[in-house]
Amino acid sequence: MIFDILTIFPALLDSPLNESIIRRARQEEKIRIDITDIRSFSLDKHAMTDDRPFGGGEGMVMKPEPLTAALRAVRQKNGPGRVILLSPQGRAYTQKVAEELSSLSHVILVCGRYEGVDERFVTASVDDEISVGDYILTGGELAAMIVIDSVTRLLPGVLGCAESASRDTFSRNLLKHPQFTRPRVFEGQEIPEVLLSGNHEAIEQYRFLVSVQRTLDRRPELLKQVVFNKSEKKLLKEQGLYQKIEALQTGQ
Ligand code: SAM
Repeated sequence: MIFDILTIFPALLDSPLNESIIRRARQEEKIRIDITDIRSFSLDKHAMTDDRPFGGGEGMVMKPEPLTAALRAVRQKNGPGRVILLSPQGRAYTQKVAEELSSLSHVILVCGRYEGVDERFVTASVDDEISVGDYILTGGELAAMIVIDSVTRLLPGVLGCAESASRDTFSRNLLKHPQFTRPRVFEGQEIPEVLLSGNHEAIEQYRFLVSVQRTLDRRPELLKQVVFNKSEKKLLKEQGLYQKIEALQTGQ
């Protein structure tokens, strides 16, 4: 998969995209990340990429010409791709959107700065707008990194354990169960006994139930979309959890 990033601060992206799993995915050519400096497409002798807003008001707006020229250049090199503007006004970024993007072969991530980008660039060239949350960042670079990181780990062969991503929080709209490693006792805290039992069915049931309980406590709205199978329903009924979930799902 190819990720193109259009930014005026390319150096910001260096380190996070050159460590750990993303670094390995790049080395193994599971992904390619090309960073383009919008500034080098400025027509201005001072390499300006922003200007004052028409109509007055605060801040600066990213000019449409350097953005458009940068986009044309990356498309010429890497193909059309899906052009995604990182924007607090975009659709909410979720694991579902990450899954959707992971099926594409090429995305072009455009990072805004200042007050944002000239709307005519958005109208003419942007296919999709994505927001990483209801808060305002100083620029789209961190948001682009969130997209790249979360999409890359979904690509085949990127994670060591193929099952890992499919059992993560959100993959089924449930928060993942708590996890423990050595030592068995840490500052007086023991791990749940069942995890030492060697009984895989009992461990699975325990993990499933704490996962549901945790979701009920912290993110009950997620449970509205979860479909439980017959044996899960039985287990939830035995633990007195099913009624609460049913009430959430039917809105009663
Ligand atoms: N004035 C804009 C507004 O009120 O909608 C906010 C501009 S913000 C300071 C500058 C840039 O950061 C945006 O153009 C966008 O690229 C990026 N950005 C800020 N918050 C973001 C978010 N929650 N998700 C994605 N990108 C964001």
